[in-house]
Amino acid sequence: MDEQNLSTDHVRLAVIQQLEGLRRAGVTHWKRIDPIEPSKSVVTPQAPTQKSVPQAPTGNLTEKSSSTTVSAVAANIDSQSRRPFELESSPLAKKKIAPLPIIPNQFQPLDLPLADRIAGLAALAERVKSCTRCQELASTRTQTVFGVGNPEAKIVFVGEAPGADEDAQGEPFVGRAGQLLNDIIKACRIRREDLYICNVLRCRPPGNRLPAPDEAANCREFLDGQLAHVNPEYIVCWGACAAQNLLGSTETIGKLRRQFFTYGRAKVLCTYHPAYLMRNPAAKKDVWEDMKMLFLDMGIDLTAKTK
Ligand code: SF4
Repeated sequence: MDEQNLSTDHVRLAVIQQLEGLRRAGVTHWKRIDPIEPSKSVVTPQAPTQKSVPQAPTGNLTEKSSSTTVSAVAANIDSQSRRPFELESSPLAKKKIAPLPIIPNQFQPLDLPLADRIAGLAALAERVKSCTRCQELASTRTQTVFGVGNPEAKIVFVGEAPGADEDAQGEPFVGRAGQLLNDIIKACRIRREDLYICNVLRCRPPGNRLPAPDEAANCREFLDGQLAHVNPEYIVCWGACAAQNLLGSTETIGKLRRQFFTYGRAKVLCTYHPAYLMRNPAAKKDVWEDMKMLFLDMGIDLTAKTK
């Protein structure tokens, strides 16, 4: 596989991810553009830029008579390639070249005044309460766990999914792992209420199993909606599930640490989940290094003595 084919491979993956993101955002069709005969062509085709990507279903985007479905386009591309989450069997994996981080769905910052953020998040939470997209989770949950915190938070924490304690209390990161997270927050000299905290999923997977890919995809609209309303400068992904889902990566959490990614306008830092730290206390020092890196980027030295 030469470099050109590797590059083509990345472009295919990025296009499929973008199409799936549009489909999750509600775009089902877009206008079909008839092929232009070479002799009539007057414009050099441009690669689509992010600004030119439709963000919501409007006008011709839903006219079936002259449109093609987003799913059909994705399937067509997909039939020439493999799905993005099958990177293990891809030529990239065979060549042991780590795939570039592919951003599956950029949240669009809304930059709203506080009252609108609160109202928007409340409306989203209402939709989540009655959501049954994941039938198994909807039928086994005690309640949905939307998210808590400051709607104007500079930092959003994203975890995996509600556990038993969260399912019972309706709040993310409570219980023992939540207590450890609180200790980390305290060590960073901030308050939990300064942050916004949510998960990849808003319903507890039975037995605390990992979220299935389709469940994460179902719930992505809500995660992106929360990020859009809060519009943070930083996102911290706690654990591999949050990191891989948000970034569309298959890399291990160990490899995703110690660097900043971007998602929307936010810088993203990935670190170990508090539940992992409870099983592997030696990794606490790694998380502390990650927190120091995060705060140093904000101009705050966590090692400096307080007065
Ligand atoms: S996990 Fe998310 S998408 Fe699935 S049922 Fe719950 S709220 Fe809906």
